[in-house]
Amino acid sequence: MENGVRIATRIGSALAAHSESLEDGSKRRFLQAAGLLVAGLMLPQTRADEAPLAAQGSGHKVIVVIVGGVRRAETFSREGLENIPHLSAELLPKALFYPHARNEGVTAHFNAISSILTGNWQRVDDWGKLAPTTPTLFEQFRKGQRVDRSDTWVVASNKALTSLIGASSDSNYGPAYGANVVFPKQLMLMAVADALRGGRTANMADRSKVEAELQSAMEGSNYEGLGWNVFDAADRLDPRVQSSIQTAVANFVHAGGPTSGDELTFYMAREVMRKFSPRVLVVAFSDVEAAHFGSYALHLSGIKTADRLAYQLWQEVEENPGYRTKTTMVVLPEFGRDPDGSSTNGFFNHRANEESTRDTWMMALGAAVEKPQIIERPIRHVDLCPTLAGLLGCRPMDAQGAVLTEFRG
Ligand SMILES: [Zn+2]
Repeated sequence: MENGVRIATRIGSALAAHSESLEDGSKRRFLQAAGLLVAGLMLPQTRADEAPLAAQGSGHKVIVVIVGGVRRAETFSREGLENIPHLSAELLPKALFYPHARNEGVTAHFNAISSILTGNWQRVDDWGKLAPTTPTLFEQFRKGQRVDRSDTWVVASNKALTSLIGASSDSNYGPAYGANVVFPKQLMLMAVADALRGGRTANMADRSKVEAELQSAMEGSNYEGLGWNVFDAADRLDPRVQSSIQTAVANFVHAGGPTSGDELTFYMAREVMRKFSPRVLVVAFSDVEAAHFGSYALHLSGIKTADRLAYQLWQEVEENPGYRTKTTMVVLPEFGRDPDGSSTNGFFNHRANEESTRDTWMMALGAAVEKPQIIERPIRHVDLCPTLAGLLGCRPMDAQGAVLTEFRG
């Protein structure tokens, strides 16, 4: 693996220069405005009548970036490094890296993420119709240290998640101690539908065209067979962002081409960091799940997007005074994907009980990293939650996972 790091550093540097080529100015402006818009929509959720509690516990902040299903073959392998130039070249040299982080539970999205967030292997409904059965990191942190909801967030592109990812069904905890859970793409569709309905689109030449194009751009990433619903909502557009969203939508539509749900999730997550500075932030990217459509090219492009956005989140950590020096950021996939030649169509799916599907990796950066190192010992996804709970100053938790001793508290 030492060798692997050197290769990673060399190959990654060569590729990093090209990795920003997908950036598009008008799309970026649109997504930024959408992020602001969604943040505006969420403001009523924060309790204005409730004074923020003083910082509790250790003061440590944690960010968990979860990246859908990616195989070792397309990431931390000799052939895969070209897809992850930022993780392999820029972040690995300062990371605590576990090349073998195992999903030994259900390799479906909701169960995988709720296992990561609870420290216990969850076997609930694959589509998020049932909450995890044991308390999440959010609940343990909030209840144990009397922390406000605005200090714990999940921002996700993954449509296999529901708001039930934010709290468990444990009667001692539950939604009263849960996280804010946001699906930016869904909120954006709602906001844009509101704007169109309210006639606040005077600067768009052809209203029906805007709507149709926006819908098709958003539905283009309907990976899991669940449609995004544009549901009714009262007019809650924040006047501060109305004009910027109108301009941004117009620019976006005229720029054409597909956009990425993960890009929007990134802008939203960064906006949450800047506005609310939460102690615990979980960001779930899922562009890689384009694999379910059978497009290897889109899957690879999703990996490259996640690589770049994870890096940009880390840059925000380093530049944001609310996060710099006191934050640990962890990046890990939910699982791998099935091996080529399998009966489930290889990279399309993640159902096979195979190493390719279960054996993945985990990278930690920041405050908990005493020195960069590679830990060859296999760890399990359920080990992360008790480890992060320790960093946050929570009492030792009752979990199947064990604290990773390499993390510095
Ligand atoms: Zn999937």
